[in-house]
Amino acid sequence: MMLIDSHSHLEMPEFRRDLKEVIQRAKASGVEYIFTVGTEKEDWNRALEIAHSHPSVYAILGVHPHNAREIDEETYSTLRKLCTDDKVRAYGEIGLDFYRNRSPRDVQIERFREQIQLAKELGLPIVVHDREAHKETLEILKSERAEEDGGIIHCFSGDYEMAKECIEMGFYISIPGTITFKNAGGFQEIIERLPLQSLLIETDAPFLAPVPFRGKRNEPSYVRYTAQKVAEIKNVSFEKVAEVTTENALRVYRLK
Ligand SMILES: [Zn+2]
Ligand SMILES: [Zn+2]
Repeated sequence: MMLIDSHSHLEMPEFRRDLKEVIQRAKASGVEYIFTVGTEKEDWNRALEIAHSHPSVYAILGVHPHNAREIDEETYSTLRKLCTDDKVRAYGEIGLDFYRNRSPRDVQIERFREQIQLAKELGLPIVVHDREAHKETLEILKSERAEEDGGIIHCFSGDYEMAKECIEMGFYISIPGTITFKNAGGFQEIIERLPLQSLLIETDAPFLAPVPFRGKRNEPSYVRYTAQKVAEIKNVSFEKVAEVTTENALRVYRLK
């Protein structure tokens, strides 16, 4: 039995004190690989450093929509260099966050388009962050022909129709720990209807810890609670969810 945490943030300060133990606990819980996402300049080198010091960790680099307004020419030349590293398996997370709006919307949209093009140039799949911007996200993915290199809609929060359209474009839908929450009925119904072959599981640690750790710091070992909930919802075994989501992650991150 093997699990993969397809999206976490191990370089964040929340893990500075006990990173080694966190990675060990993940391994002991069957989490064979962890993908850590460096979302801004200060985090890229740290993400790479962690990936290079731990065989089970891989990196994903890009500029989060929150930080879109900080992007300049140097940002892209730095990313171009760092992303040639073999430990970097995807470009992201990129996209739109119209909930927090930490960067102006028009800037987010422009930088999202540019980063899809950069990912294509690098030949990397993309990791998409979409919060309350479903329509715009889908439009941009289509108009930039993002399906050519594919990728993942991480922490999916859209409706069934959106999930279906993304899957038809060849994207994977990644499920966070929120699926275990009491009020996640609508989300659970969507997941019930989607094919396991298009699903990944993630923690987004240190955020969004699943039940029974809701409200606490999240960590990659907890991805098993998400797998367990997906198994319940889809009425298949835990082992089946582990097996198929692992295959999916290895495929999209091209480790197989
Ligand atoms: Zn995100
Ligand atoms: Zn994230």
